[in-house]
Amino acid sequence: MSFLLEADDLVRIYSGRSGLFGKAQPVRAVDGVSLRLAQGETLGIVGESGSGKSTLGRMLLGVDPAQGGSVCFDGQPMPATGSADWRGLRARMQMVHQDPLAALDRRLTIATQIREPLDIHKIGTEDTRAARVQDLMEAVGLRPDQADRYPHELSGGQRQRVVIARALASDPDMLVCDEPVSALDVSIQAQVVNLLRTLQQQTGLGMVFISHDLKVVRNLCDRVAVMYLGRIVEEGPSEELFANPRHPYTQALVSSVPEPGKRLDGRVILQGEPPNPAKRPSGCAFHPRCHMASDICRGVIPELHATGEGRTAACHLVTDATATQVA
Ligand code: SF4
Ligand code: MG
Repeated sequence: MSFLLEADDLVRIYSGRSGLFGKAQPVRAVDGVSLRLAQGETLGIVGESGSGKSTLGRMLLGVDPAQGGSVCFDGQPMPATGSADWRGLRARMQMVHQDPLAALDRRLTIATQIREPLDIHKIGTEDTRAARVQDLMEAVGLRPDQADRYPHELSGGQRQRVVIARALASDPDMLVCDEPVSALDVSIQAQVVNLLRTLQQQTGLGMVFISHDLKVVRNLCDRVAVMYLGRIVEEGPSEELFANPRHPYTQALVSSVPEPGKRLDGRVILQGEPPNPAKRPSGCAFHPRCHMASDICRGVIPELHATGEGRTAACHLVTDATATQVA
C-alpha cells in the first residue's frame, strides 16, 4: 500500500530553559515517532498538553524540520524547510490552527484572505480565482455578502470557517488540524467538526486531527495515535482503540471521558501531575502515574510493538497474547 504521508523515527529536541539552580536540559518534544497516513484517511493524535502533538503536526508539514528521522509526502522525501521545492509543495499540505483570529490578517477582507493561496501558488486566472473564492465560501457555509467583511466582524466559528476555506483553496491532499475547535464555543464545535468531515469526504484529502478531546476524535477519525511525552504509546483503528484501550495511559484517558449513564466503578483514574517534557521519568515515562507499574517499568523503556488487529502499544504488560487481559 502506498501512503500519502510516511513519517519514520521523527525527533525534535528543544534546548530547554535553565531553572534558577539547574543547567538547561534539552527537551525531546518528539522522540522517535513513526506514523502513516493514507489518502482519504483521518488520523487522530491525542494526548495531554506537553505531549508533543503540535510539534509533531508541524513536523509532518516540514514547518518544523525534523532533527532526526524522515518524512515522505506522496512517495518523495520532504524537501528542506523554506526551500523553493518545499514552498511549492505547501499548496498540497495545509494547516488549520486553534486560534482563527491569530491566523487571519485583521486588515484584509475575508475574500482577499481566502484568495491568498491561489495568488501565492499562481492557481487559475483572475476570473477563476474570484469564482473559486465564492465556491469555497459556499462550501464552508459563509454567505456571499460576508466576502467584504473583516475578521473582527465575524464570530469565532465564522472565522474558523474562513481559515478552513483558505486552507482548502489550493485543493490540498493533506490537512493538518491542530485543536481546530478548542477555542470555539461548545455549541459551534460540532458544526465545525461536521464541516471538516463533510469537506474531507468530498475532497478525499488525508487529514491529521490533533486534539485533546477524545469524544471528537472518536467521532471523526479512522485511526488514532496516543502520545505521551513525545512518543506514541498506542495506535490503532479508532473504534477498537476506544472500545478496548490496551495501554494503561489510554485506559485512563478513555475512562476520564464523562458519558451519561457510565458507571464510575472500574474507572482507571489518571493520577499525578500532567507530564513535564523537561523532566522525563526513567524507563516507561508514564510509570509515576501508572497503577500497573513494576520494577521493569522504571528501568526499561517499552518499545512500540504490534498487539494484534492492526494495533500497536508501548507497554511491558501488553503483548499480543495478553492484549485483552490487561485491565
Ligand atoms: Fe504502566 Fe509499566 Fe505499561 Fe508503562 S510499561 S504503561 S508503567 S505497566
Ligand atoms: Mg498543542
